[in-house]
Amino acid sequence: MINLQRYRWAVRLFNTALFILLPFITINGQSALRFDIPSLRLFFFGTSVWIENFFIVLIFTFFITFLGILVTQLYGRIWCGWFCPHTVMINLTWFFDRKKQTLIQKVISHILVFAISTVISVTIVFYFVSPYDFFRDLAAGTLSPVTAWFCIVITAITYLSFVLIRYKFCTTVCPYSKLQSIMFDKNTLIVAFDPATADRCIKCNACVKTCPVGLDIRKGLVSACINCGRCITACAKVMQKKEHPSLVHYIYGFEKEKKPFRVNVLITGIVTLVFLSIFVWMAATTKPFEFQVLPNQQFMPREKDDRIINSYELIIKNISDKELTFDISVEGTDDYELQYEKPFSVKPAETVKRTAFLFIEEDELEDFPILSLKMSAKSDNAEMKPIESEFSFRRPIKAKRKVTE
Ligand code: SF4
Ligand code: SF4
Repeated sequence: MINLQRYRWAVRLFNTALFILLPFITINGQSALRFDIPSLRLFFFGTSVWIENFFIVLIFTFFITFLGILVTQLYGRIWCGWFCPHTVMINLTWFFDRKKQTLIQKVISHILVFAISTVISVTIVFYFVSPYDFFRDLAAGTLSPVTAWFCIVITAITYLSFVLIRYKFCTTVCPYSKLQSIMFDKNTLIVAFDPATADRCIKCNACVKTCPVGLDIRKGLVSACINCGRCITACAKVMQKKEHPSLVHYIYGFEKEKKPFRVNVLITGIVTLVFLSIFVWMAATTKPFEFQVLPNQQFMPREKDDRIINSYELIIKNISDKELTFDISVEGTDDYELQYEKPFSVKPAETVKRTAFLFIEEDELEDFPILSLKMSAKSDNAEMKPIESEFSFRRPIKAKRKVTE
């Protein structure tokens, strides 16, 4: 007999360990997964996405949403029963559901649930504030009041949810559970009592007693079922004594002909793949800096020694994780001189403005009073193509001579 619940426990312990430890794992000096509130940056397994590039996160959210729909179309509420953090945490506080408890046992249960709620709330905070900074500030007594209040409020909500709501959350409040029924079809994986073997049922009610949401699976599929499979294991244990398999199973719908590739699954699969491709492409081509050239309003174009001088404001915003040093060049003419303060270094998250002066021989503007050129910013320490910005180079406007008769 395969004890599904052993696998479920292994999955749940893995999920919990991952949830708690992930913020402590550092890649390139930062948490593996964290949205850093102070710098408004998402750290994602060695890369970081600045708030300016947050559309990438939006595309990733679409990908996760469609992946969730695809998984539900194929495997029903498998997420709820096996992976959902809320269900996992409720399972970890199983002792709270014991019926006959003495007063001391009840008090200990509440203390344990409160301790687990505190760990959960602090772990949630670690997905927004570095855990190492959190403990350092806590020890020094300099923890920000916002962080402290966030911990207190989340602890209170989690504790009350564990004590008062528990599995009722899955059947009443959870928005995902409300959307499930529209994603199901005739071939979705469900937990079902096999009517063909109904005569073997000894009406022991073991399947009903073990059900966390209080269902009787023999009465048919109910949307409140979270696919946890506890009734399968309970019935398997009863039936083992009679040398029969469980009367409750995981089955892909009641259709005789099983169709893993249905039109709805195919469409959702394609949309999921499209969003994944867009996300990968965007993440691979994200620019590490922004570059802009604006005319310097304080300096009008002028002439000096047969050369024309124009001035510009060069603006560079560094949206990478390292300090970048830039080299600026002009494209569209070879005979020029560009003066600006060097080195042009910009720290991560910093925007630096530099005034530049561009000298071009007067002859070059003989035919056209305005040249359309491009400036190109290249960084030696950013592994990507230079970024260009277009600008105009003008002749000085000369005062009209007085016409004398
Ligand atoms: S009916 Fe079975 S699978 Fe569904 S929630 Fe109850 S115990 Fe879990
Ligand atoms: S556990 Fe199995 S045998 Fe017992 S009531 Fe449920 S379906 Fe029938």
